[in-house]
Amino acid sequence: MHVLVLGGGYAGVTLVRTLEATLPPDVTLTLVDERETHLVQHLIHRAIREPDLDEQLAIPFDRVCSRTDHHQARVTGIDRDAQTVEASTGTLSYDVCVISLGARTAFYGLDGVAAHATPVKRLDHVAQIRQGFQQVREMGGRAVVGGAGLSGVQTAGELAELAAEADTEPEVVLLEQADTVAPGFDRSFREALRETLDDRGVDVRTGQSVERATADEVVLSDGSLAYDQFIWTGGITGQFDGRRAVRATLRVDDRTFALGDAARVVDADGDVAPAAAQTAVGQAETAATNVKRLVEYLRDGDGFEPRLDRYRYSSKGWAVSVGDGTVAQVGSTVVRGAPAHLLKTTIGSGYLGSVGAISEAVQYALE
Ligand SMILES: Cc1cc2nc3c(=O)[nH]c(=O)nc-3n(C[C@H](O)[C@H](O)[C@H](O)COP(=O)(O)OP(=O)(O)OC[C@H]3O[C@@H](n4cnc5c(N)ncnc54)[C@H](O)[C@@H]3O)c2cc1C
Repeated sequence: MHVLVLGGGYAGVTLVRTLEATLPPDVTLTLVDERETHLVQHLIHRAIREPDLDEQLAIPFDRVCSRTDHHQARVTGIDRDAQTVEASTGTLSYDVCVISLGARTAFYGLDGVAAHATPVKRLDHVAQIRQGFQQVREMGGRAVVGGAGLSGVQTAGELAELAAEADTEPEVVLLEQADTVAPGFDRSFREALRETLDDRGVDVRTGQSVERATADEVVLSDGSLAYDQFIWTGGITGQFDGRRAVRATLRVDDRTFALGDAARVVDADGDVAPAAAQTAVGQAETAATNVKRLVEYLRDGDGFEPRLDRYRYSSKGWAVSVGDGTVAQVGSTVVRGAPAHLLKTTIGSGYLGSVGAISEAVQYALE
């Protein structure tokens, strides 16, 4: 029996760590990921200012997995009828497959945006942003961040701190097509984020739709904006054909599950779970139970179809950094400053600890 987990982000790693403990030892567990390391993506914007964080945020898979075989390859397709996965290393077959490939940046076909903007999904993007902003600082130029979701807000916050240290008065502009930053979040949280961005000197412009981009200008629905650096955090889409729609059992078909950013999950209450690290981790817990039940059913070869658990989204709260300012929401309470920063640090180091990266967790908390 072979369980194949595609993608070792928050969803995939949390899932295989649970399955390692719960699946019978003769079930083969393989994690396919194109990288050598598990990336703690929700903190990568911090590496714009602190390049040394790279090492704490990229943890080799052999440190986070024990009996799982990490197969380094790029997945290019899945044939669910044949129960095979096409990868850069060849064809892999499975009995049960879990799709947790995360998402890629969506450019929505906006002319010139993919060609001229840097996304914020990987550490090499972050390094590119750091280098590009160095030039913006030297010339007193303008960096434009398109999209004020969590990644855009946090990226703009980091750039604003770097801008504040420069004598040349570089500008950081954050564009958002909705009429608020962090659309979809509670009003008090959005307002606190907006005030923190304003305090740090980010020029926030809401109600601004990006229509296209040239090498030096972002064209908006009602004008244009010259830039020296363009960063795009305007949205996400699935790796192949959009984010896969799944119900609360996370099941795509008899042998396949999907979760994390790769899926658009309608939970047990009928709500769409937000694309977030905490969602991916929560769904991995449900997926682990369901994969185990399906494996038992397939091995025994008789009896009734297994009863599968249903995922229910429940927010553990939010902690978002805006440069050195942090805004957190726990329940309906919004806090800022030192308590929020402490919460953000605790979440980051708590996650690192939960995947077995203890020294990184300690180092992160200390820094
Ligand atoms: C800058 C930034 C800040 C964020 N801040 C927050 C925050 O404060 N709070 C929060 O909850 N969320 C935040 N997020 C969102 C959070 O990081 C994602 O929701 C989370 O990473 C989703 O987890 P996942 O396991 O579904 O996918 P990922 O973590 O993206 O993992 C997907 C894995 O699949 C692998 N992969 C992808 N394609 C292929 C392929 N074709 N072949 C092989 N392997 C592949 C990748 O290498 C990766 O290891 C932030 C994201 C960004 C970018």
